[in-house]
Amino acid sequence: MADKPRYRAWFQSLSDPNEHYALDEIVYRSRTGDLLEVVHDLRELGKTSSEEWKRRFKERQHVTAWPFGSGVWGKKEWVLPGIRDENIVSMFEGNTNLFWAERYGTELGLRDLWIKQCGNSHTGSFKDLGMTVLVSQVKEMIAKGREIPAIACASTGDTSAALAAYAAAAGIPAVVFLPRGKVSVAQLIQPVANGAIVFALDTDFDGCMEIVQQLAERDEIYLANSMNSLRIEGQKTIGIEIIEQFDWNVPDWFVIPGGNLGNVSALAKGLDMLVDLGLVDRRPRIACAQAEAANPLYLSYQRGFEVFEPIAARPTLASAIQIGNPVSVDKAIDALRRYDGVVEQASEAELAEACARADRTGLFNCPHTGVALAAMEKLVRRGLIRENDRVVVISTAHGLKFVDFKVKYHETQLEAIESRLPNPPIELAARYQTVRDEMLRQIDKRFSK
Ligand SMILES: *Cc1c(COP(=O)(O)O)cnc(C)c1O
Repeated sequence: MADKPRYRAWFQSLSDPNEHYALDEIVYRSRTGDLLEVVHDLRELGKTSSEEWKRRFKERQHVTAWPFGSGVWGKKEWVLPGIRDENIVSMFEGNTNLFWAERYGTELGLRDLWIKQCGNSHTGSFKDLGMTVLVSQVKEMIAKGREIPAIACASTGDTSAALAAYAAAAGIPAVVFLPRGKVSVAQLIQPVANGAIVFALDTDFDGCMEIVQQLAERDEIYLANSMNSLRIEGQKTIGIEIIEQFDWNVPDWFVIPGGNLGNVSALAKGLDMLVDLGLVDRRPRIACAQAEAANPLYLSYQRGFEVFEPIAARPTLASAIQIGNPVSVDKAIDALRRYDGVVEQASEAELAEACARADRTGLFNCPHTGVALAAMEKLVRRGLIRENDRVVVISTAHGLKFVDFKVKYHETQLEAIESRLPNPPIELAARYQTVRDEMLRQIDKRFSK
């Protein structure tokens, strides 16, 4: 692209703004051990007017001109301005639909409830948004002659699926570490099918994370977890894209599930750029939703964020957020402070029932989205979210990746959960009269007042 050299971005330490690294250096933490973030030359970006940015982003939506039809790369100057287009590894991620949850919202007393369907993406979760950026940067480094034996991640399932797919498309070896028996069949088969080297380790996510960090330190394996802030650069397009979908009107609330807390940090980082570059003039509020079984941020919020203590996360249906020691906690707390944030939690029963209830209105939610929906329902009941507020729930994965949990819910087989809306298939003999009688009984039961 002609204007490539104009815009610049670099890694910067969170605590020391003078500590910088080039984006093609392999570095994840600052000298004092905190995370890095990618910082953009806002002065240079600001020389282009907000109206011009809006026009440019709109013009690129869904085009086939490489790579701009991707929701992430349509905003290339804000994401990774310096990368060569031929090194970009993209599956046209982003540009996912917003679902106007009219019927579900009405049940809750909300008029303007929307669900951002990030799971309608190549590997079925929002992780594609970040992985396209990270794998592209690695491809560029390899093209420049750098030796990188493989890209690796620890994962609760979706990160490994995204890494495996993008690495396979680029022809770069991928290694994934999963906690054995703790990810869904769909999540496990994705990296297997894409040819990644898949390790199922006898530990939890935090245990897998320790192993992969050692490999990154000692064996020059490139780390793809969200402590690598390149992923945040892709994920930060979520909020930008939603506001663009609303013709640059800012919603009142974003509700987002949080585990390792990279995504809530990314959401806020994207919104920051919109404010800083004058595309919008107000900030929404952010609610981060955690599973009660893995709620260290919620506990910290209860104490005004004055202390943060990692916990041992207990098993939860929302397996992708079963994380007790979130790597991006500092970024997340900063983000929530900037966005007048709240943290709410959901029990296993609450998340399962919220999923089922919303599914009945045409959605098909994963359990993590269920955590966000249940948390939102609580904020509505508490009066914090009000009737006319525009609310956007970030749905993080496709429900089809988590059918085991739905099957058990509808068979009323989930432990310690009542299943208030079970809808198992009705098994009957294939006789017209029997079927007809049962059908009419069912229609009457479900739709008569
Ligand atoms: C990764 C993931 C999350 C949590 O995102 P964090 O950045 O770890 O907070 C939530 N839902 C799904 C489906 C995920 O894959």
